[in-house]
Amino acid sequence: MPSRKFADGEVVRGRWPGSSLYYEVEILSHDSHSQLYTVKYKDGTELELKENDIKPLTSFRQRKSGSTSSSPSRRRGSRSRSRSRSPGRPPRSSRRSASASHQADIKEMRKEVLEVKLTPLVLKPFGNSISRYNGEPERTERDGLPHRNTEEKFHLSEESSYISTQYSLRPRREEIKLKDRDSKEENVATKGSTLLKTSEGPATQTEGLEFGGVPGVFLIMLGLPAFLFLLLLMCQQKEPSLLNFPPPLPALPDLWETRVFGVYLLWFFLQALFYLLPVGKVVEGVPLTDGRRLKYRLNGFYAFLLSAAAVGAAAYWGVELLYVYRHFLQLALAALAFAAGLSAYLAVRAAGAPPAALAPASSGNAIYDFFIGRELNPRIGTFDLKYFCELRPGLIGWVVVNLAMLLAEMKIQNRATPSLAMILVNSFQLLYVLDALWNEEALLTTMDITHDGFGFMLAFGDLVWVPFIYSFQAFYLVSHPNEVSWPMASLIIALKLCGYVIFRCANSQKNAFRKNPSDPKLAHLKTIHTSTGKNLLVSGWWGFVRHPNYLGDLIMALAWSLPCGFKHVLPYFYVIYFAVLLVHREARDERHCRRKYGLAWEQYRQRVPYRIVPFVY
Ligand code: NDP
Repeated sequence: MPSRKFADGEVVRGRWPGSSLYYEVEILSHDSHSQLYTVKYKDGTELELKENDIKPLTSFRQRKSGSTSSSPSRRRGSRSRSRSRSPGRPPRSSRRSASASHQADIKEMRKEVLEVKLTPLVLKPFGNSISRYNGEPERTERDGLPHRNTEEKFHLSEESSYISTQYSLRPRREEIKLKDRDSKEENVATKGSTLLKTSEGPATQTEGLEFGGVPGVFLIMLGLPAFLFLLLLMCQQKEPSLLNFPPPLPALPDLWETRVFGVYLLWFFLQALFYLLPVGKVVEGVPLTDGRRLKYRLNGFYAFLLSAAAVGAAAYWGVELLYVYRHFLQLALAALAFAAGLSAYLAVRAAGAPPAALAPASSGNAIYDFFIGRELNPRIGTFDLKYFCELRPGLIGWVVVNLAMLLAEMKIQNRATPSLAMILVNSFQLLYVLDALWNEEALLTTMDITHDGFGFMLAFGDLVWVPFIYSFQAFYLVSHPNEVSWPMASLIIALKLCGYVIFRCANSQKNAFRKNPSDPKLAHLKTIHTSTGKNLLVSGWWGFVRHPNYLGDLIMALAWSLPCGFKHVLPYFYVIYFAVLLVHREARDERHCRRKYGLAWEQYRQRVPYRIVPFVY
């Protein structure tokens, strides 16, 4: 559990946002996720405050008579001039006698503050000089949009506009509406996913956690590895149908061999060595909550070239790549054991991590954090464990596995050359991996790096799921040949290219915009302004659907499966799984963006109503 300084029910002093004034408040609750306290002022006002804005009563010296204020409004009434005016401060002209003004002040302030909820935001790199409230669009955009009631009513003074650079000001009703929609969407996302379970029942500490909370992640951690082996075993069957379910379980020696584990370790540490090589440029990641930016070396593409050279050299000196096919299950188990061990190590080291090092997604619950990762950027010296695992051992390993499957197909099916289907699958997926490594810098702004910690979810996903499930089509083709005609191949290639163009252009457009919003090449694009200082694209690829990159990725996934033919549903598992993953991921991102951008995000939703597939979803 992240430590908290103040207990529920404790009476302390809370700073009035935007001012240096402290008033007596009662702590109502603490959100371990956002690290915010909900406090109640004596006049009933409830706000969320950061720990730094709360002080124990003992740290204030009491004045002798009557000068100690017990509410913001009272204090306001007694001061003659204050630069930091609270949003509830009435105009000077309406001041009345002391006691009457006190009551009126309280009423006035309650009315205003109840309409406004102040939620501290992490300051963004470009965000500190903007003096507009969340959601106010650029003038050009605004004219084209229906005006919302809430915006029309909601006028901010110059000072409160200043406050809005640090706090997200959102009308209360709007907030409630958003919360309602959040919970509805959470249900839809979890219902749609076969991997997830919704935590039901009364409010608990784990309420609101993603992936179905503690029970959900517990099931995922047990279920996914079992499911992976089930799929691989089914794929090895001649007739992988439900009639032959479940597939025969292998003997233990067919699953575990210590030497294979050694081979896996060799691969992992070879990749670590390549990662440490001082080649490739060093860039900075996005700012962390404490303002720091971590440095990352971009040498993934070099690591790929070196890995190709190493695999080529090994083959030249007599190492058979078929080893990977013959020991596929054992390698998968070795990778699983390694990922589990790594997750345990990460959980232990994260126990002593300072609050600033914790991932926004972490919860304080040991099981949940074991899954989602407690530490955001665990590093050993400059070696970033999460960043390294994301693109190296698993992703480059996937290409090696595919190559091994191509050789296995030739051997098992007595072919002089690989099948066209196998060539298509291998080249499509090689392109995907090369693209990811070439555009390695884009990884730094993904949810995996900026939001989720490093725990079992990413360790398992990167090291086990990617190399052993993403290579599923090639594995399938080894024992289930499928002849693809050239016209069919041309259609599949066209589909793959179409998906790739959407995927690459959408990602590049957003990355270029995030890197340099005033890039002249992007000047033709329309944007919506947000109070964080970052704008949102509303035309170009990001005006087509809200996640065009997911659409492109899904089209590519379909193109990877089509070369396997239509005899079995198994090779389509990847497309189905990926659709579920992206729908769930989109819902997560949507929630994060709504929290970040408030009304601006609502306007983006109005302008671009479809999430992934135009006119469908
Ligand atoms: P995205 O690249 O889609 O990034 C989402 C972020 O983009 C948002 O949080 C927001 O961040 C920003 N954004 C959203 N809308 C706009 C807009 N209109 N204008 C400007 N910025 C906007 O997220 P992912 O990390 O999920 O995906 C990255 C890529 O990785 C995708 O192509 C995806 O398909 C792929 N992927 C592949 C997986 C696989 O297993 N093969 C798994 C997961 C993802 P902010 O505003 O803070 O910049």
